[in-house]
Amino acid sequence: MDQYRTGRERMVLEQLRSRDIVDEGLLAVMAEVPRHCFVDDAMRGRAYGDHPLPIGAGQTISQPYIVAFMTQALHLTGQEKVLEIGTGSGYQTAVLCRLCSQVYTVERINSLLAGARKVFDQLRYYNIRSKLDDGTVGWPENGPYDAIMVTAGGPEIPEPLIEQLADPGRLIIPVGTQHVQELQLLEKKEGQVEVTNLASVRFVDLVGEHGWGK
Ligand code: SAH
Repeated sequence: MDQYRTGRERMVLEQLRSRDIVDEGLLAVMAEVPRHCFVDDAMRGRAYGDHPLPIGAGQTISQPYIVAFMTQALHLTGQEKVLEIGTGSGYQTAVLCRLCSQVYTVERINSLLAGARKVFDQLRYYNIRSKLDDGTVGWPENGPYDAIMVTAGGPEIPEPLIEQLADPGRLIIPVGTQHVQELQLLEKKEGQVEVTNLASVRFVDLVGEHGWGK
């Protein structure tokens, strides 16, 4: 019995459908993935609220709408190999893994990665591979990726990620200052790269070689 189902269905209706989330496959996945499993016990009652939440180590799980908005922008069809930078709680990873064929996810904080891996196992999400590393250099061994999502904000789009993106491919990342960023969508098509600003957002720092300094 999933006592959180009602909260989750209300989240889909009031925070996603009522705005501009129209991808039915994505809406169905967000009505299924148990977001409360990715936050601390003390926070479970707020897991389906219209806001981000702290997940420890100074990091946050994104607001449900932002997770949906970023996922929708990747136009996943189920066949893709996806790279995610910033596993955090693992919630975004879980949403991605139900909409593509394989997710590779990189996190730089050990305690967060360990927590996320535990939930992936509990929920039997078997198409996720993860590692502890600086994700700004990507994960070259498994590339190219059909889609790349970065869930922390950096000063620019890391060059290695552009290189590891397939053609055609879509990459989404918050780019700006440490206070405010633009959610940028980079599309690679027939050897050309095009960048579009989608929305103003506020994310935690992308820390690494091609991000902010440590
Ligand atoms: N998608 C996550 C969001 C977590 S916040 C969720 O749904 O919970 C962003 C995460 O990016 C943090 O966990 C932070 O530690 C991580 N991060 C920041 N810089 C990174 C880097 N260079 N490589 C990998 N992870 C990074």
